[in-house]
Amino acid sequence: MAKKWLVGTLMAIMLFSLMGCGDSKAVNNKSETKKVLKVGTNPNFAPFDFMDSDGKMAGFDIDLIHAIGKKIGREIQMENIAFDGLIPAIQAGNIDMTIAGMTITEARKKSVLFSDPYYQSGLIVAVKMDNSQIQSIHDLTGKKIAAQIGTTGAMSARKIEGATVREFNASPETFMELKNNGVDAVVNDLPVVQYFIKTNGAKDFKMVGEVLSAESYGIAMNLKNTELAAEVNRALAELKKSGEYDKIYEKWFGQKSPQK
Ligand code: GLN
Repeated sequence: MAKKWLVGTLMAIMLFSLMGCGDSKAVNNKSETKKVLKVGTNPNFAPFDFMDSDGKMAGFDIDLIHAIGKKIGREIQMENIAFDGLIPAIQAGNIDMTIAGMTITEARKKSVLFSDPYYQSGLIVAVKMDNSQIQSIHDLTGKKIAAQIGTTGAMSARKIEGATVREFNASPETFMELKNNGVDAVVNDLPVVQYFIKTNGAKDFKMVGEVLSAESYGIAMNLKNTELAAEVNRALAELKKSGEYDKIYEKWFGQKSPQK
């Protein structure tokens, strides 16, 4: 009798511990068990990610990820990482996700899991105000171009025949190089170029030609983290539905969000 009781108790204990495992979200990712979500970004990409005058991270991405964190009951802890170090940091498990104006590309999809798109973007060429020679990407053959390391802008610039591409860590550095005549043009994301010209260089720089590509930004996570991705997508959809997404959009872009 006593033996039976013991076996029963042991089985109950085993069952409970198994249930505990199933409940835990940590099957694939250690830090998922904690309340804190480590989110990497490169704060050199205003108005999406930048350091404000108080030395705090600010921008559209930062507000959006905090709103998502609130929805899914997780505390957001931002980490400052070089843009080309973000995907390796996710793969190594040093961070849980990245929100960094990162374009969803087929190549990146092999290394990380993207959320649903949260912003429609594209690339644009910028030159000095007094440059009348370069009027579009077609005039960049054989020219010197500045772009950010590891970005879709740098990848497009490298496809231009005979062009020399100089890559910099931060978007403002590409404009510095343009100002100092180190390069003939900058290729970068349209909303970031627009914002930079408006806030820093309205007299010095201008955008030329058509928007080069249609790109969507996504939040990137570990390929194994499908549960977290589902939570993020659900939160994103709710924020869009409730109008919170629109509020954040209007705060940073001064106009109504085109996505409904
Ligand atoms: N959208 C571009 C990319 O994903 C640039 C992103 C960035 O520099 N933060 O490559």
